Amino acid sequence: MRPDLQSYRHLASGKVREIYEIDSDTLLLVASDRISAYDHILSPAIGDKGRILTAMSFFWFDVLGVPNHLAGGPTDERIPAEAVGRSMVVRRLPMVQVECVARGYLTGSGLLDYQASGAVCGIALPAGLGEASKLPEPIFTPATKAEQGEHDENISFEHVVAQEGAQRAEALRQATLDIYSRGAEIAAERGIILADTKFEFGLGDDGELVLADEVLTPDSSRYWEAATYRPGEVQPSFDKQIVRNWLTGLDSGWDRASDTPPPALPDDVVARTRQRYIEAYEWISQRSFADWPDAEVSR
Ligand code: ATP
Ligand code: MG
Repeated sequence: MRPDLQSYRHLASGKVREIYEIDSDTLLLVASDRISAYDHILSPAIGDKGRILTAMSFFWFDVLGVPNHLAGGPTDERIPAEAVGRSMVVRRLPMVQVECVARGYLTGSGLLDYQASGAVCGIALPAGLGEASKLPEPIFTPATKAEQGEHDENISFEHVVAQEGAQRAEALRQATLDIYSRGAEIAAERGIILADTKFEFGLGDDGELVLADEVLTPDSSRYWEAATYRPGEVQPSFDKQIVRNWLTGLDSGWDRASDTPPPALPDDVVARTRQRYIEAYEWISQRSFADWPDAEVSR
C-alpha cells in the first residue's frame, strides 16, 4: 500500500513543484504540470509536463554518473499512488546557497551583463559577441538564490569565494562546468544545443558536493535546435516557443507590458506544447515516454 500524499508534511511550493517531507532525512519532490512564461504561471497546465520533466531528470542522473540526491527510483514505494511518475524521493541535504549556472552561449541576463560591462559575473569576454553567440569556452556564472517572487542576481566568483570559501567555490565551478559539458556533448549528439543550465548542489556527510534538485530539464536549461541555430537572433525555445508565440501574438490579445495576467491558453496550444515536451524527452533520452510510469489511480 502506498502512503497518502496527505500523510506527508507539505514543506513548500515552488512555481512548478511541491515539496513534502517523508522523514527527517528524506524529501518528496513532486513536479506539477504548471508552466510559466514571462514570469506568469499560465493556465491551463500542460498535461504530463511534470512526468516528462521528472523522466528527464532521472535520465540525466542516470547518464551523468555523478553523486546525486536520489534516494529511490521513479516507482519507489514511498511515492503516493497519485504522484507516481512525477516524483523524486531524495536525500534531504543542506543546500549550497548558490545557483550554479553554466553558459556555453550568450543570452538572457548573461547578454545583458555583457552589453553593460563586456563581462558576465566578472568574466571578461571578447568584444563583438551578441545574442546567442557561442562562447569561446563554457563559463561558470553563479547567481544568488532569490526569495520567492524575486529574480536571481548574477554574482562574481569572488562573491562565491567569500560566501563558501575558496575550496568549495572552486569545486562548485569545476562540477558545474564538467556536468554542463557532459550534458552539452550528449545533447549535441542528438542535434540539440544546451545553451545554458542551472544546477543546485547539496552537501553530503563529508561536505562533498551532491547534485540535487532537477537536472538539465527545459525548466532549468535553455535547449535550442541545432538545425535552426542562427546567432545574432533570439533563438526559439525548444519547449516554450509555441506558448510564447501565442501569448505575444495578436490572437491572445494580451499586452505583456501590462500587469494583467495572460489569458487562458487555447487547447491546441496546450496540446502542441505537450507534444513538444515529449519530443524533447524522447529526442534527448532516446527512450519512449510511453514506457514512463504513470499515476497508479484512474484519472
Ligand atoms: P522556483 O519555482 O522559482 O524554482 P523554488 O526554487 O522555491 O522556486 P522549487 O524549485 O520547486 O521552487 O523548489 C525546490 C526546492 O527544493 C529548492 O529550494 C531547492 O533548493 C530544494 N531542493 C532540491 N533538492 C533538494 C535536496 N536534495 N535537499 C534539500 N532541498 C532540496
Ligand atoms: Mg527552484
